[in-house]
Amino acid sequence: MFNRIGVLAFHGDVIEHIETTKNASKNLHLDIEVVPVRAKDIIHTLDALIIPGGESTTLHKLCEREGMWEGMKKIKNIFGTCAGAIMLAKVVHHKTADQKTLELMDIEIDRNAYGKQTESFEKNIQISLGNINAVFIRAPKIKKVGKDLEILARIKKEIVACEQRIGDSYYLATCFHPELTSTVFHEYFIKQVYRI
Ligand code: GLN
Repeated sequence: MFNRIGVLAFHGDVIEHIETTKNASKNLHLDIEVVPVRAKDIIHTLDALIIPGGESTTLHKLCEREGMWEGMKKIKNIFGTCAGAIMLAKVVHHKTADQKTLELMDIEIDRNAYGKQTESFEKNIQISLGNINAVFIRAPKIKKVGKDLEILARIKKEIVACEQRIGDSYYLATCFHPELTSTVFHEYFIKQVYRI
C-alpha cells in the first residue's frame, strides 16, 4: 500500500515535523513517505497533512498565493500545531482583517493569548498519550470546542490539544509544538490516519 504524509513547508518547524513523522512511523514499523508540501499538485496524493506552527497569517497568504487553499480543505486528515491549529479553527479571535482559516474544526481559538514571544514557556504535561514536555511559543488558547470533540490534553483548565472526527475526516490540533520534544502526538496521528 502507498502511504504518504505531507508537511506544509513554507515556514515554521518544517524539518522538525518531517523528522518526527519519520521517527514516529519507524517506531510504528510503518513505511510512510513524508514529503514537504509547497504546491497544489501534490495535495491529492496525500493521506494526511501536517500544518506546522509559524505565523498563521503568513501561512494563509502563502497557501492562497500557491492556489492550494480549496484543495487543502478537502484533505481528509490534518494535524495542526500552534499556527496550524489556528488554520484549522472555525472561529479565531484576534485574527487580522484579511486572515482566513480553513474552518474545518469546531473550535474557537484565541491567537497570541499568552502574550508576546517573550511569554513563551515549556511545561511537562501528563496525559493519556504519555508524558510530554510541551513547548508553547506565542501560542494560542483554545477557548471552546464543539460537543463532538475529544479533549486530549489540558493544562489546569485550559484545553491544549483536541481532536475531531467528522464522517471519514480526522483533525488533530495542539496549541504547543510536540515536534520539538517527542513522537507521541505524531504516532497518535498516524494511528488515526491509517486506523491502526
Ligand atoms: N502567533 C502565531 C500565530 O498567530 C502562532 C505561533 C506559533 O505557531 N508558534 O499564527
